Amino acid sequence: MSKQFDAVIVGAGFTGLTAGLELARAGKRVVVLDADSAPGGLAGTFEFKDGVTIEKFYHHWFNNDEYVPKLVKELGMEGDIVTMPSKTGMYFNGRQWNLSTPMDLLRFKPLSFVDRIRLGLLVLKVRRVTDWKTIEHLSIREWLEPLCGKNVFRIVWQPLIENKFSVFADAVNAVWMWKKLVLRGSTRDAKGGEQLAYFKGGFGRLAQAMASEITRLGGEVRYSSPVTGVHTAGGDKLSGVATPGGEVSGEQYLFTPAFSLIADMFEGAAGADWLARWRRVKYLGNVCLVLELDRSLSDTYWLNVNDPGFPFVGVIEHTNFDSPENYDGKHIVFLSRYLAKEDPLWYYGDDDYLEFALGHLQRMFPKLERSWIQDFRIWRAEFAQPVTERGYSEYVPDRATPFSNAIISTMAHIYPEDRGTNYAIREGKAVAALMNQAPAR
Ligand SMILES: Cc1cc2nc3c(=O)[nH]c(=O)nc-3n(C[C@H](O)[C@H](O)[C@H](O)COP(=O)(O)OP(=O)(O)OC[C@H]3O[C@@H](n4cnc5c(N)ncnc54)[C@H](O)[C@@H]3O)c2cc1C
Repeated sequence: MSKQFDAVIVGAGFTGLTAGLELARAGKRVVVLDADSAPGGLAGTFEFKDGVTIEKFYHHWFNNDEYVPKLVKELGMEGDIVTMPSKTGMYFNGRQWNLSTPMDLLRFKPLSFVDRIRLGLLVLKVRRVTDWKTIEHLSIREWLEPLCGKNVFRIVWQPLIENKFSVFADAVNAVWMWKKLVLRGSTRDAKGGEQLAYFKGGFGRLAQAMASEITRLGGEVRYSSPVTGVHTAGGDKLSGVATPGGEVSGEQYLFTPAFSLIADMFEGAAGADWLARWRRVKYLGNVCLVLELDRSLSDTYWLNVNDPGFPFVGVIEHTNFDSPENYDGKHIVFLSRYLAKEDPLWYYGDDDYLEFALGHLQRMFPKLERSWIQDFRIWRAEFAQPVTERGYSEYVPDRATPFSNAIISTMAHIYPEDRGTNYAIREGKAVAALMNQAPAR
């Protein structure tokens, strides 16, 4: 007889691990299944050849994120959160501009003085929106351009939105931008600077600590266990999920991967209308090049590149945030690109992708030589960013499935905020509370 669990959780990202931890703490027999070989999902880490560990996709927290510090404290690891001032900048017209404080903004010459003031006042103007539903029918441009003016939009925001949302730049609704501006405005200190937070050893280490705690409490976390389908025993309940190692059964089920992956798992078990609703939510993929260099590129952590034609979100030099001392003296740089799977770059091999990226990077940093690269890795995530189109709140599916003992809690439920580990923890706790209402056997 195969083992029967109280809760079967699909996905060992921050949502699944948080839910697993909460349920295990409540005395439930929990199993968390993940397709990957390690915990953390999109926030997972990897090792370069020399053992230096870093996220596959750059990660930090904001100092007003509330759920992460709570969770870390519960694990008794609060001493491992480090906060550091963020150094942000913008590359425009062949040079780099600091943009960390209001004073930097006043010195930002690509904009006229009046436009600099307009940009500064934007944070106040966006706070006037108190009900985000009133702007959900607008694209980012339709909402933002009248607020900040054509020039500010064209020089500052348009390149960022196009790099972030690629072919969906005009399809994403204004709520995404509104929420970012409101949240970022409230993370500033008295001098207008921003503190960001990080976990010593990386987010993968925190995910590992969560997985270990689940195990310590009697649960299981199984890696390299992709769920390929669901089983029903007739009626309105799931009886198990299929994995290459066999069926895993439980009283309750939680699914945390992207909606379309969940639709694939439920193919044949859920009706066509359910599958269509789950597949209605579009996602962008991300290709992230992680460079391990023997020296630094600049002194900026997050450099937005607003020159037309630069195909990345920006240049993110992690070791200008967390010290190179913690990375064996190496300098870590991320070059991330959001893209649809139809984009030919999605299919580039690693060496071709490195060539492509270096061409762009060397235009900005002409001294950069290939010999600086000690190692590199390219990560691809097909479901990296849910695309919140106009009227998203009306079409995004809720947590329900056609089965009374199975629910969904996924990154695309994070709204009106953008996805992030802080909110994944919030979601994981909320969904565990729902599942906890069912009595343990
Ligand atoms: C480029 C990039 C940068 C980011 N930067 C930040 C940041 O700075 N700060 C921040 O807080 N957040 C950041 N995020 C967002 C953050 O990573 C996510 O919001 C968060 O990790 C989502 O967690 P999750 O558990 O909901 O989903 P995921 O992390 O996607 O977890 C889902 C899990 O399901 C597993 N899975 C998929 N299919 C199956 C299957 N068939 N069977 C079993 N398991 C399966 C996956 O392997 C994965 O582990 C970033 C994301 C990206 C892509």
